[in-house]
Amino acid sequence: MNKNYRILLYYKFINIENPEEFKNDHLALCKELNLKGRILISHEGINGTCSGTVEDTEKYMEILKSYPGFSDTVFKIDESENHIFNKLHVKHKSILTLLPEDEVNPNDIVGTYLKPKEFYEMLQRDDVIIVDGRNDYEYEIGHFRGAIKPDVQNFKQFPEWIDKTLGDKKDKKILSYCTGGIRCEKLTGVFLNKGFNEVYHLDGGIVTYGKDEDVKGKLWDGKCYVFDNRISVQINRTEEDIVISKCSICGVPSDRYINCRNDDCHDQFICCESCEDTYAGFCSTDCSEHVIKKPERDSRFRLMNKKELYEKYNQDHDMYKHVIEKLKK
Ligand SMILES: [Zn+2]
Ligand SMILES: [Zn+2]
Repeated sequence: MNKNYRILLYYKFINIENPEEFKNDHLALCKELNLKGRILISHEGINGTCSGTVEDTEKYMEILKSYPGFSDTVFKIDESENHIFNKLHVKHKSILTLLPEDEVNPNDIVGTYLKPKEFYEMLQRDDVIIVDGRNDYEYEIGHFRGAIKPDVQNFKQFPEWIDKTLGDKKDKKILSYCTGGIRCEKLTGVFLNKGFNEVYHLDGGIVTYGKDEDVKGKLWDGKCYVFDNRISVQINRTEEDIVISKCSICGVPSDRYINCRNDDCHDQFICCESCEDTYAGFCSTDCSEHVIKKPERDSRFRLMNKKELYEKYNQDHDMYKHVIEKLKK
């Protein structure tokens, strides 16, 4: 395996005076370095995940850290054989959205950071409430043992969910975690503002925990959902690594998320390999029947067309490789 590529995951809360201008410069920089991924920039800072060659990502980190105030930016680095995004998006957009009345600035109010080892120890106490700071579909395929599944489809719903579910538990220790740590930067502030006394969060998030040589991802069950072509990554590197989710069609243990082949549905659902074969990648008979009526809404049909076009015009295009990969599934 040739791991000539890298995946970077990072964020930095810092006041950016002119986010639009910063965004334009940043887009130019990322294009020059052939990075792909999704980077959000706002007056609050930057939140990004991107892939590129070892050389290009190295340059990128060096340049970003050279900006005033950015020198302590933490990058979580994964190795990869190729890009794990198809495109580059650099946007002037809120880096993390909560309800306006719950807007918190982590530079003013934030919970206590715990290193993986400290977090691991805290997980085993009985006076803590472990709160998964992510969405329900992320929780579904993997989470820390004993963590509460938040009943939220997006981050904005968290403040209300806290009031409803944990409002009477303010004397308990709150232990929160998320993928890379950014969501807890705000979530712990929300808890503190609501009057919770002891609020802790996992420094560097789940991905850092999984890489830690001492804890080796212990007490994490399942996989960790990620927002790129990999869809999920392994965290628990002990013999306790298990599959906790089930195929939504037949119920066998599975942690494969696929998107329904019907473009008008496109629902992400957990599906075992055998059911994907049997039902041809549709989430339901409704969806397979829908595509009989509207064949142009079949995403495979669309991929086949793309494949033909790339074959005709440019077989070296990264998109061509991606289309081939997708069709193989
Ligand atoms: Zn199945
Ligand atoms: Zn469907």
